[in-house]
Order: sequence, then C-alpha cells, then structure tokens
Amino acid sequence: MNKQRIVQNVAVNKSLAEVLKDFFGFTKFKGQQEEIIDSLLGGNDVFVIMPTGGGKSLCYQLPALISEGTAIIISPLIALMKNQVDALRNFGSVKGIAHVMNSSLNRMEMEEVKTDLISGKTKLLYVAPESLTKEDNIEFFKKLKISFFAIDEAHCISEWGHDFRPEYRRLRPIIEIISENAPIIALTATATPKVQSDIQKNLKMVDSSLFKSSFNRANLYYEVRPKTKNVIRDLIKFIKENEGKSGIVYCLSRKKVEEVAETLQVNGVKALPYHAGLDTITRVNNQDRFLMEDVDVIVATIAFGMGIDKPDVRFVVHHDIPKSIESYYQETGRAGRDGGEGKCITFYSYDDIQKLEKFMKGKPVAEQEISKQLLNETVSFAESSICRRRQILHYFGEIYEQDNCANCDNCNHPKEKFEVTEDIRNALLAVKQTKQLFKAKHMCYVMIGNDNTDIKTVKHHLLPIFGVGKDKDEKYWMGIFRQSLIQLLLDKDIEQYGILKLTDKGREFIENPYKVIMAKDHDYEEADDDSIIVKKESKTGQAGEEVLFKMLKELRKEISKKEKLPPFVIFQDPSLEDMCIQFPISMEEMHRITGVGVGKAKKYGQPFLDIIKQYVEEHDIVRPNDMLVKSVAKKSISKVFIIQSIDRKLSLDDVAKSKGLTLEELIGEIEKIVDSGTKLDINYYINEKVDEYNIEDIMEYFNEDAETDSVEDALLELGEDDYPEIEIRMVRIKYLSEVGN
Ligand SMILES: [Zn+2]
Repeated sequence: MNKQRIVQNVAVNKSLAEVLKDFFGFTKFKGQQEEIIDSLLGGNDVFVIMPTGGGKSLCYQLPALISEGTAIIISPLIALMKNQVDALRNFGSVKGIAHVMNSSLNRMEMEEVKTDLISGKTKLLYVAPESLTKEDNIEFFKKLKISFFAIDEAHCISEWGHDFRPEYRRLRPIIEIISENAPIIALTATATPKVQSDIQKNLKMVDSSLFKSSFNRANLYYEVRPKTKNVIRDLIKFIKENEGKSGIVYCLSRKKVEEVAETLQVNGVKALPYHAGLDTITRVNNQDRFLMEDVDVIVATIAFGMGIDKPDVRFVVHHDIPKSIESYYQETGRAGRDGGEGKCITFYSYDDIQKLEKFMKGKPVAEQEISKQLLNETVSFAESSICRRRQILHYFGEIYEQDNCANCDNCNHPKEKFEVTEDIRNALLAVKQTKQLFKAKHMCYVMIGNDNTDIKTVKHHLLPIFGVGKDKDEKYWMGIFRQSLIQLLLDKDIEQYGILKLTDKGREFIENPYKVIMAKDHDYEEADDDSIIVKKESKTGQAGEEVLFKMLKELRKEISKKEKLPPFVIFQDPSLEDMCIQFPISMEEMHRITGVGVGKAKKYGQPFLDIIKQYVEEHDIVRPNDMLVKSVAKKSISKVFIIQSIDRKLSLDDVAKSKGLTLEELIGEIEKIVDSGTKLDINYYINEKVDEYNIEDIMEYFNEDAETDSVEDALLELGEDDYPEIEIRMVRIKYLSEVGN
C-alpha cells in the first residue's frame, strides 16, 4: 500500500542542479527532492509525505522558478507564507517573483499583485484556501497561465489529520475550474495510512506518484513515565538533570501552563509560559527570549512550535498526554532538529485520558468517534512495551525492521517476556469467526467471554471461540490484538477505521503459526507512588538509599532508647524516606524535609545530618539539593492562623466554621502541624469535649502499648465504640505535642 513508486531518475538534469546552486545556494539535493521535482516537471500529479525538516518546500519552489507561468501554492499558515515569500524575494532580485494573496492586502497592494501576475513576473503565488475559493479570484485565476498547483499541509483535508480544515475539501473541484491540465503536488509532513488515503481520494490522486520519506528520527529518545502526584517534582528533577539545555514542556490547558511555568520559576528554572491567551507582545517576547536562549524552558500549549525552528531543542516533555500519536510525533519532533540529542519524555496517567474524553462531550458524534479512536491509540502506545519507535513508525504505515532501537525506554529496559503464539492464533480465529467486522474492544469481550448486550445482539456468545481466553483479562487481550497489528497479522480497516481485518500474513499464521514472544505491558496505575522513578534515576542506585535508610532507622532507635520515647515520635518513616531522597546536610535543608519542622529539626536533627553528610561524601552522591518543590498554590488554610487561634484558646468548632472546614478537616490540618514538629496545646478544648478517663486511657495507650502512632491501630486496640476516632485523634495531638515535640 505504501510502496513508493520509484520514479526513474533520468540522467542528471543539469539545469535543476544549477538552479539549486544559483538560487538556493545548495550543492546537493536532499533525499528524494530531485525525483519529486523531475516527476512534477514531467506533468505528473505528485504526492509527497516528508517529515518536517526534510526540505519539502523546495520541491515546489524550484520547479515553480523554472516553469513557464505561475505556480499557485495553497497553504493554511499565513505566517509561513510570508516567511517563504520574503526568503524567495531575498534569493532572487525581482520583488514580484513571489506574492501572497489574502484578505489582508489593501486595494493598491492587490492591484500590484494582479499586475505582476498578468505580466508573468510572478512565479509563485501563495494563497490561503479561503482566498482561492472566492468567486472573483477564480475568474481572475482562469486568465492566468498556471504551471502547477501545490497543496501544502495536505493533511488538513482529512478529518483524521490533526489539523482538519473543511475548506480544504473543496480544493479539487476549484482547481479543475481554474486550470484543467496543470498538475498538482500535494505535500504533508504527517500522514497515517488513513489520512493518506483520505487525501488521495479527495484530491483524485489515487494513481499519482507517491514519495514517502521515512519518519524515523533516530536521534530522538522516547520514554513514557508514570504520572504520579509528584509529577511536578519529577519534572523539575528531569530539567535540573538537563540544566542549561533548551527544552519545551507541553501542557494541555492554559491554566496548567501558567501553573507549571510559575512553579518552575520559583524552583530556579529559567522558564516562561506560552499560550494563545497571552497578549501578543508577551507571547512574542517569551518566544524570542526562548529562541535567544535568555530562558531555557518554554512551558506551552500545543499552540507553540508552529513555524518556529530552533534546531537545538534538547528535550520535549509532555506534562499531559497528547490527543493523538500524530500530535505526539509532531510535538516531540521539535526536539533535536539538528540531529543532536533529543529526549522526549511523556508523563502518562489514565486519568488524563478520561479528562480528554470529557472535553469531547458536546462535540458532533462523528468527531467524538474519531477523537476516541485516536485517543485509544495513544493509550495503546503509552501502555505497550513494544519499541516506541516501532510503534510510531507503524502508525505512519512504515515498518521498522530492527529488533531493538536502543533509543527508547522499552528497548533499554525490556519488560519480562513470554510466548503468546497460541493466544495470537486464538485472537486471529476470533476475528475470522466474527467475520472481520468488529473493533478491538469488542473482540476482547469475545475473548474473555463477556456476554453483554452488544455481544448477545450479534450472537457472539454462541461462537466456539467465545470465552476461550477468560483466564486473562481484557487488558491482556488488548495487548494481544496490538501485537497482532504490529506483526501485520491484522490490519485496521481504512474505511471503517478501527475494524480489525485479517491480512494474508494473518491467514497464513492461523494455518502455520510461528513463535511470537511478547513483553508484558506497562501498568502505570500500579506505579502510583514515586518510588519507581526516584529509585531508577537515583545516582546511588536502589541499594544505596536502602543502606542509608537503615542507618537512619538505627540512629532513630538509639535516640528513642535514650529518650525513652517511641521511634515514631522522633521522626516518622516518611521523613526518613525523604531524607534518603533529598540528602539534607544543613539544618536549613532539614527544615524542608517532609514532616520535619523547625522544632523537631533542632531537637533531633543534628545527628541525622551528620550521618547523611558522611554518607554523601563517602558515596559521592550528587544531591538533588534544589529538588524541594516550592509550591505556588496556597491550598490549605494558613498554618499561622491555626496556631494563633489555638493560642487564643478559640473553640475549634468556631475556627473550623470560620474557614468552611469540618472539625475533622481542621483536626487534619492540626495533625500536619504537629507531625512537622510544632507544639500545639489543645488541652483547653480536649478537656471540655472528651471524657477525663478516656483521655487518660488514650494517653496511656500511646505512652506504653503503641508500636506506631497510627490512629487505625489505636482504634483497633481501644475499640471504636468506647473511643470515637475524633477523640483518639485529638488526644494523639496532645500526646505528640507534650511528649514528642
Ligand atoms: Zn525502541
């Protein structure tokens, strides 16, 4: 389907090379440029699929210059048109050689353009699709000699492209009215097989010469990481590891862009926001400062990047998952344009997918269907443990032959593998038995034997294959279908996108299966705590942190014996864990450790600092010392307000009410303050609310019986009928304040 029709390269066309040198200053054509130009000059319709940076525009600029008449270039990007026209005028000496025609021209300018066109001076005329389809323009164009039409950004024709423009659908009939014989060259930097087929059909170019360059960007490194509640910390950490390098962080919403940019700034990263909601001056200014390397990082919505070309962007981070693999490819494609390093990191959580699905509500059903399909493919991509590069290229209809690209997370850290030959065969049989009419999700239900209404309606619960894979879950079977697609045993129908069809290879596989090995999919939901990332990235390695953690626990035990206090009163486990991540070596840094306030740090901190300092020196640890994420959002009620209120012995019920909290929520805030080492005397309140004997019992429990300060344990031990949770929590606060802090 995607085989390139190789156009014979008939002898070296001297004049082409000369124009290339004289006009553009290049000595050599890039990739297939010369074949493409030859074919167009030979009067053929030509379809060019070439990734950004491949030299697409030259494919129509050069032939336009040496052809008789004017080439009409249709492009949706006004800024890009202007750039090209300026560049062409600079190359040549005649101003009229290239023009833009759009609604921004005044009458005089329009007259000038028309005069140049009629006199034959103009070789390239750039028009927006809206201008081309205007009635009086059509009449005017009919009088001109047109050398050919170029349709740039041709993926705008397809609803399946990431940039659909309805006016693009009307281009073909209008072109036919203007000039019957002029050939067409359609160009796009991105096209999946589905988009490609849409373009070819709409432009009546099914039989035209197709030139498709490889979409492989070998220098880009692809990685998908779990997105946890600590995503911002992980992001800062990544940026700090790449200090001084240029990078783009993409977020889905303007609000997120602002928030992330601000958080990066207060954490010492030179970052600026960019989104369509900023006024033009700020936006242009921020973009320029990024281009001039006055700032390192631009935090942006996807509005950023169109038409800017910074060759040395070293990383692109997706804070939120993109809406389609195509967007992912375009956005990550902005990294490493110069062929140098380009790290592409995506933070993924299924929650984000659900958010995106919510945005679709209210849109036309057909559009929703398309978006949903594209989103499903993105989920597949993220969760799969198949080589990322291979998946991306497969998406663009290209086969990646190598087993291991050595430049993606899945290749560098392969997951556990197992044989799936029989399962794949069963999956293919299921597709066959259901007459190749259903999408992957439905097929998974068939495999696991889910007899829902849809299944029953089409009587699939009666098929021999029904429920054959019920010992595995839906997710597993999704992986099997995905694998079958990548292996080219199945194909997605182009017309009814998403419906699975058997390929010849797949039919052959059913008869003569060969051994297929598959790696386990990622399960990002399980990766909810941050330990995975932190450990993986730690310079010390997992073992090192564990050793330090043990040392700190030992120390805590010693102190607890000496002070005759339970260990958790000294520092709780999360605090020790945080010390093993942040490696504080000064008292000031100690204050910033989770659950460690000034009081606690002063009381117990020093011996811990000593051990950590020694450990850091001995093990040559690179400390992520700026890693403590300073937050810009003020979510909870102010700590100071609570402390002052308690000092004034205000009723906690009133304090809670004045801040719109429940008593439980307020107690939660007080617990946080006390856990971080501040003393709070709430006896005035407890004595009034809690039975005297209860107070005594609970205090005794924490003093003598308790192994942890957990409220749940206390509830179990004491019995919640006699001791309500809220009472235990309040007395625990009393205990920690009096004994611990
Ligand atoms: Zn790979």
